[in-house]
Amino acid sequence: MKYRSVAAILPGEPIEMGSTIVKQPLPTVRVERIDPFLLLHHFGPYEVTPPFDPLDVGPHPHRGFEPVTFLYQGGLRHKDSRGNEGTLKGGDVQWMTAGRGIIHSERASRDFLEQGGTLEGIQLWINLPQKDKMAQPAYQNIKAEDIPVAGSERSKVRVVAGNYQGLKGPVRTHTELLVLQISMSEGGFVQLPVPETHNAMVYIVNGTVQLNDNWSYEKEHLLQFRQDGEGIALRAETNSEILFLSGAPINEPVAQWGPYVMNTQTEIMEAMRDYQMGKMGFYTEY
Ligand code: MN
Repeated sequence: MKYRSVAAILPGEPIEMGSTIVKQPLPTVRVERIDPFLLLHHFGPYEVTPPFDPLDVGPHPHRGFEPVTFLYQGGLRHKDSRGNEGTLKGGDVQWMTAGRGIIHSERASRDFLEQGGTLEGIQLWINLPQKDKMAQPAYQNIKAEDIPVAGSERSKVRVVAGNYQGLKGPVRTHTELLVLQISMSEGGFVQLPVPETHNAMVYIVNGTVQLNDNWSYEKEHLLQFRQDGEGIALRAETNSEILFLSGAPINEPVAQWGPYVMNTQTEIMEAMRDYQMGKMGFYTEY
């Protein structure tokens, strides 16, 4: 396999989110987006002691893209203006299609807050093509046990979306995506083929990995790849957790303001107006 080379090494930069700090490797000053991926936030690991919730972000709207949450440790509760409600535990994935508009909140789940413990996860924003930006909102709550696992004892590859080694991820996507969660113990090795047209990257959630039998990279770094090879290889130097993301680029203009990602500035204005007018539904706390 001819390996893809590294185009950029992006460290997760600490940014303030409400009462806490998250790590943000994308976007940065250097890399605005990796089409179709817009943003990646790594929250935690936080040691949570009852009743303080480090994630208590109030209800807010989204339109035009898909906010995805990978929960690694702890418990989360989701609630939105379309009547969806769900709880996540470590290993679960929440895939929201904001489409024409949704108002939601995500916070630590009640059970988890009562007992305390470690909370850690990733929030990823994936763009939607123009034809799907105003689609009906959707909510996919994927349980850890429904995610197929490939690989070996020392390198487990969980297929969240797309196809890998004959396994198909459970998530329905709007564009072609390959999303893999890789857990490796020391010495674990995986080769990941990447479709020729895809933009690809890996985020190292934890551990240290050697890439393509060459340089090593540490946790909390995102590696963006050039489109110059058939795939990548990862070898774990310590126990490691990696998020692999690749996708067919959408190649459309992006107008982004806060929680809205559209194609034009006019559509951003419409989104703000529609939210004010209640067209994204109403969120009520109980
Ligand atoms: Mn949100």
